[in-house]
Amino acid sequence: LPDTQALQRLDAAHFLHPFTDHRALAEKGVRVMVRGDGIYLWDSEGRKVLDAMSGLWCVNVGYGRTSITQAVTRQMDTLPFYNSFFNTTTIPAVQLAAKLARIAPEGFRHVFYTGSGSEANDTNVRMVRRYWDLLGQPDRTVIVSRHNAYHGSTMAGASLGGMSGMHVQGGLPIPGIVHINQPSYADHGMGMTPEEFGVHAASWLEERIKELGPDKVAAFIGEPIQGAGGVIIPPVTYWPEIRRICDKYDILLIADEVITGFGRLGKWFASEQFGIGPDLITFAKGVTSGYVPLGGVLVSDKVAQVLVAGGDFNHGFTYSGHPVACAAALENIRIIEEEKLLEQVAHDTAPYLKARFASLAAHPLVGTAESCGFVAGLNLVRRKAGNVHYQVKFDPSLGVGMICRGHMFDNGIIMRAVGDRMIIAPPLVMTRAQIDEMIGLIRLCLDRTLDDLER
Ligand code: PLP
Repeated sequence: LPDTQALQRLDAAHFLHPFTDHRALAEKGVRVMVRGDGIYLWDSEGRKVLDAMSGLWCVNVGYGRTSITQAVTRQMDTLPFYNSFFNTTTIPAVQLAAKLARIAPEGFRHVFYTGSGSEANDTNVRMVRRYWDLLGQPDRTVIVSRHNAYHGSTMAGASLGGMSGMHVQGGLPIPGIVHINQPSYADHGMGMTPEEFGVHAASWLEERIKELGPDKVAAFIGEPIQGAGGVIIPPVTYWPEIRRICDKYDILLIADEVITGFGRLGKWFASEQFGIGPDLITFAKGVTSGYVPLGGVLVSDKVAQVLVAGGDFNHGFTYSGHPVACAAALENIRIIEEEKLLEQVAHDTAPYLKARFASLAAHPLVGTAESCGFVAGLNLVRRKAGNVHYQVKFDPSLGVGMICRGHMFDNGIIMRAVGDRMIIAPPLVMTRAQIDEMIGLIRLCLDRTLDDLER
């Protein structure tokens, strides 16, 4: 085994981690992950962990896929890099573009490659502005997004995102990006059915468009299910109504499918499931199951026609269409197809997960527990004598979510805490028996958290 303490010292001395409180990390000591297989990881002290977060929502086919390693190695041996700027391309980049056109929703036949989801959302901002410019409407520049959204960490990505904690650091959002409320039934749905609330929440977009002036608005962007914001599942009426409003005012609709793409909800893309009908789709993460960085924008025929006819689009990255990343993606997609993972999730394991996860709502520390496909979230609340109808949020200063996350880590399971909302996004290969194992571990950690609070 490696020398954990030496690695922890080096990490504390040299590694600035993303989204991390460095003082707290230095005190606790970083955990060093060394190996993965299927849904499990092992750390430098030999402890086994069930990874209920698929890394960071991305390891869809699970760890240890040697066929992806081989595809990557073959491509590295043959041609480790070439660019797509000089009227040039590479075999994997072309093959993947054609493959994506086959699995994307109907009417999407083009892709613009990037290195990450953040770069893909930056690309969206420039692409929609270029689109309207080419159509002779250069004043259509504003993009409407949502509070609590996550769209990445670049200047445009973090501005499109609606996390106030990110906006205060670095003077964001950049001009031309505004936010409406998220369709969170728990926060805003009082007195309405979920269906009524979905239409109501979409009407906030129409209100904002009218305030801004429709001739100023370029696009609306949203995650089909808000992921990093806490797995917020919108009512079924929300997205069709958003599409109707975008049509009414001729506004482009961008679905950020960085989390929901590549099978997470049981289809290649959630846009097909939720009736979104987007004009652009952001993807990353699951396209390669995180084995190698890759992202991009799927471009509908409507937008692509204008861009292609318009000549040059002065935008791109050294790693746009990186051949090694594209080779990894091709093999990853082949695995998903060969193992029928979409069918398995949609018809077998996601319904099973839904029932098992919902059973956690009986725990005295849990308010609601809901899932959609292979994402799920539960709220930690205080109940009076176990009464399901008497639920009170914890004072945020207690950090109950973080206490619970600590127990998860200590008991061999990784779950993410967003405030007091605990979320999961397991690898798509997770079996029914492994779902049972995961639910058992979650229940154990909820008990331990409750013990702490009652002590
Ligand atoms: N969009 C969504 C919905 C995401 O969840 C993420 C990352 O979590 C991003 C964009 C940013 O992707 P990346 O971290 O690859 O830049």
